[in-house]
Amino acid sequence: MIKALYAGSFDPLTRGHENIVTRASKFCDELVIGVIENPQKTPLFSSKERVEQIREAVKDMPNVKVDSFSGLLADYVNKNGFNMVIRGLRSMLDFDNEIQMAQMNAKIYKENVETVFLMTDPAYSFLSSSMVKEVCFLGGDIKGLVPENILLVMEGKLK
Ligand code: ADP
Repeated sequence: MIKALYAGSFDPLTRGHENIVTRASKFCDELVIGVIENPQKTPLFSSKERVEQIREAVKDMPNVKVDSFSGLLADYVNKNGFNMVIRGLRSMLDFDNEIQMAQMNAKIYKENVETVFLMTDPAYSFLSSSMVKEVCFLGGDIKGLVPENILLVMEGKLK
């Protein structure tokens, strides 16, 4: 049984994240989207808001759950018995960061946990949460870059 974690800030979840979730959900028995609460960052949306937004966006995917956690990803993985961690890769920059994190985490996992990297769909290779926020708040159109329910919330924030 594959119980996988896909963790990130998701502030907000983009279509790039959603694409990774859809693809990973096809080969995982259970996929948990883990919203990271980082007290050092000031997010646009609270972790509670992000969890609610993501739950709504993935409500038609029966094997996908949404949770939030703080602290070390590896501790959360150990406590909850995940045997796979999913990450997305957009560029060599992601690769450099991700490989360091994956190798450090591998030292902390108590059981065998496989980190699986999914390459971005080229349609979303430029897409990041910070880019979406910047474009939106400068008045640009972010339709198609985030799920519909998140688009509505983002547009609401503008008013
Ligand atoms: P973090 O704050 O940990 O970078 P993100 O929410 O930005 O969290 O990203 C979570 C994961 O999703 C990371 O593995 C990241 O590389 C991946 N990701 C982000 N945007 C995309 C995208 N457009 N396509 C594919 N993967 C992505």
